[in-house]
Amino acid sequence: MSQASKKIAKVLMEGGKLLAESCPVCSTPLVQEKSGEVYCVNCQKRVVIVSKDEEIVEKLSLPSVLAELEELMVNMIHREVDRMNSPNGGGLEGFERLNQMLEVLKRIRELKTA
Ligand SMILES: [Zn+2]
Repeated sequence: MSQASKKIAKVLMEGGKLLAESCPVCSTPLVQEKSGEVYCVNCQKRVVIVSKDEEIVEKLSLPSVLAELEELMVNMIHREVDRMNSPNGGGLEGFERLNQMLEVLKRIRELKTA
């Protein structure tokens, strides 16, 4: 598991978005923070996207990071479910986190099949 995918997952869990565009330097998928800033977690640099139209999904050579991210999210979901099944776990918070993770996973899968 690369550092990049862990960092991306973190941004996504904080409400960020995974974009179809990838970094021109290292081809890591770009993320957009809640504030609207787009950046590369690997280069730790802001990236300016020329096309603002997110609907234009370019056919990227599938970055392996997406596969890693998918695996990471699936693992996180399993852990969350385990926690919710434990006597002390669960509650609304758990459901919210789970919901968020499923959204992120959905987005990753959308990008993978784009
Ligand atoms: Zn980069």
